[in-house]
Amino acid sequence: MQNIPEIENLIKLISKLPGLGPKSAKRIILKMINNRRELLKPLANNLYEVFKNIERCKICGTLKSNNNPCKNCEDKSKNFNKICVVENISDQWAIESSSIFQGYFHILGGTISDTNNDNNRENLLINSLIQRINKEDIDEVILATSATVEGQTTAFYIQDSLRNTKVKVTKLAQGLPVGGEIENSDDGTLISAFKNRKGLNNF
Ligand SMILES: [Zn+2]
Repeated sequence: MQNIPEIENLIKLISKLPGLGPKSAKRIILKMINNRRELLKPLANNLYEVFKNIERCKICGTLKSNNNPCKNCEDKSKNFNKICVVENISDQWAIESSSIFQGYFHILGGTISDTNNDNNRENLLINSLIQRINKEDIDEVILATSATVEGQTTAFYIQDSLRNTKVKVTKLAQGLPVGGEIENSDDGTLISAFKNRKGLNNF
């Protein structure tokens, strides 16, 4: 597959995908070329459709099709009074599948550190979040960003941005993961677990 520019370019592009290196990219491309009708053509068409029709909702930040209303925003009829703020849509899926939260989602699309420019507030849809809080009668915003430095900096930034909204702002507790063993926990996890420890009696 060497020295064919079209294929070389494709290898470079596919190698950029998460979990894939040049070796697996070559295997994928070979598989597609050997299955032109069943794989290559539909995949090319499908990718173009996604490129053309799928984009972030400008209100809640989730992915939506231009042909349909946003599923997250459509849920308005349920009259939730909480918004859970997450970094990525995969975080929303994880929280939804745990059934722990009933409410709206707001997807930032990354953290404050992803882009170091003035557009950040715009990219993270903070103004839209403030508008949603006011418009949709929200009484609690739950910051469910990652327990990383970037995630926590982002949570602090949002908390600061919401200071004039008079909404209750909470943050997920951090500590030992369920099933986690003390001896295998890193320092950050242990410190956080100690800080967020809960009383077991009334004293
Ligand atoms: Zn939406």
